[in-house]
Amino acid sequence: MEANSDSVGIDVVLPEEGRTAPCCPHGPTLLFEKVGKGGNNGRRFYACSACRDRKDCSFFQWEDEKVSEARMLAREAEMQSKMPGLTRQDYCNRFLKYASLPLHEKRFCEDCQILLLPAEHGAHSAHRTAPVTAAQLRRPSVLLRPLYNKKSNAQYLFTDRSAHFLLDTLAGLGYRKVLCVGTPRLQELIKLRNLEQKQEPMQSLLLDIDFRYAQFYSLDEFCHYNMFNHHFFGGEASSAVLDAFLRELDGKKVIMVADPPFGGLVKPLANSFSLISQTWRKQQNPGDSNVDMPIIWIFPYFFEPRILECLPSLTMLDYQVDYDNHPLYKHGKTGRKQSPVRLFTNIPPNLVVLPKEEGYRFCSICQRHVCSLNKHCNKCNLCPSKDGREWKHCSACGKCVKPSWRHCVSCDRCALPDHPCSRAHPEDGCFGCGSLEHKRKACPLRDARRRNSYGPKAKRRGGKAFQQPPKPEAKKKSGAARRAKKRAPTL
Ligand code: SAH
Ligand code: ZN
Ligand code: ZN
Ligand code: ZN
Ligand code: ZN
Repeated sequence: MEANSDSVGIDVVLPEEGRTAPCCPHGPTLLFEKVGKGGNNGRRFYACSACRDRKDCSFFQWEDEKVSEARMLAREAEMQSKMPGLTRQDYCNRFLKYASLPLHEKRFCEDCQILLLPAEHGAHSAHRTAPVTAAQLRRPSVLLRPLYNKKSNAQYLFTDRSAHFLLDTLAGLGYRKVLCVGTPRLQELIKLRNLEQKQEPMQSLLLDIDFRYAQFYSLDEFCHYNMFNHHFFGGEASSAVLDAFLRELDGKKVIMVADPPFGGLVKPLANSFSLISQTWRKQQNPGDSNVDMPIIWIFPYFFEPRILECLPSLTMLDYQVDYDNHPLYKHGKTGRKQSPVRLFTNIPPNLVVLPKEEGYRFCSICQRHVCSLNKHCNKCNLCPSKDGREWKHCSACGKCVKPSWRHCVSCDRCALPDHPCSRAHPEDGCFGCGSLEHKRKACPLRDARRRNSYGPKAKRRGGKAFQQPPKPEAKKKSGAARRAKKRAPTL
């Protein structure tokens, strides 16, 4: 199932009515298609939507493959074995019991990552366990060990700075209900703020694949959910929790904030977010059927073309989101590397005020807040920088480019001065992303791209993104790879 190194990439074919995908323990699988050079699409296959490493989920099936009875049974057995031992309801009951325990009886097993009831202390006596304070109980994202599975589920938690900025912004814009998709720390902060009783309370619902969070929240605060196939592990009872949450009673406005794993596939994510938006629309009064659900999708800036292709109503903001436990994605300023992670939103950009003290300013021409180094270019008529550095205009390219780039006459584009020049090695560069600065092997986006298929861009679809989930990408034409090369971003 791995992309062979000559192929342009692997694309996802979104679910269609009348085609049922087989299920793996993570819900319905996704249909993948190898997209080769010159439009030779390969044999299609089903694979896990959530796990990018076959070690985590080995499901594989050719689209046209007949599956034997024996294999079906084996699959069924595997699914059963992967089901969490306790239900959501069990966890809620446990939590109620736990909360009422005296402080000295509250323990957490670090090895098993669970809250222990007194009767269980014995069974975990050989494990590393720790006492739990009331404050810790309110901060599950601190208590739980972040998952570091490199490929599918690396958990990067917001710094206080970023989390507070997000919450202040949401509160300032008048949102009273926050749908947290893969943002456990945001949900936690909302609940902490509610305790302070300084502001109007906010409601939140966490949708996440990490079932450990079920231990800390009531039924209407957490759903075990897979954002790559919009699958609710708890079935209809669980999706009904979302339906109810999305109903804006008493004028309580809802917004969704999603922070998917960065290696995640843009297309299926966009599809799930569109489905959530559709659900939201159904819950509102008939009549406003043209409005989109407000959304903030947090993702690295180099996915901008791909995200806008799938959801054209979003705009990327300059705000740099940073993370506590990510060695690279930290805020600039102190000489650390700047975070490439941004907010993509359908909230009008002029309404999202970025903090002056962190080096943002308002561009009155663009009508949005930008990084202070992102100087408005009169020729391009926009603030061009994507990475927070000051870009400069190249008249030959007719656009602004990164400061470190020089115009190369042979390549007819701007590139790093020591780029492998087309004059010397016409075929060089990265086949994956098109960058001339590195080879495919060293591509910083290799993993993400392998399944995100950063292929040639189809024309931007008009109309409302959320009403028409993106269709499978247009067939690749010859020469498309070359065009993609030109367009692809370089870090
Ligand atoms: N910055 C966020 C955490 C983002 S890490 C915060 O501080 O709250 C990505 C999150 O997405 C994790 O919580 C992870 O458990 C969740 N996640 C990963 N894969 C997922 C999937 N397939 N479906 C739903 N959630 C997923
Ligand atoms: Zn501007
Ligand atoms: Zn310019
Ligand atoms: Zn140039
Ligand atoms: Zn590359």
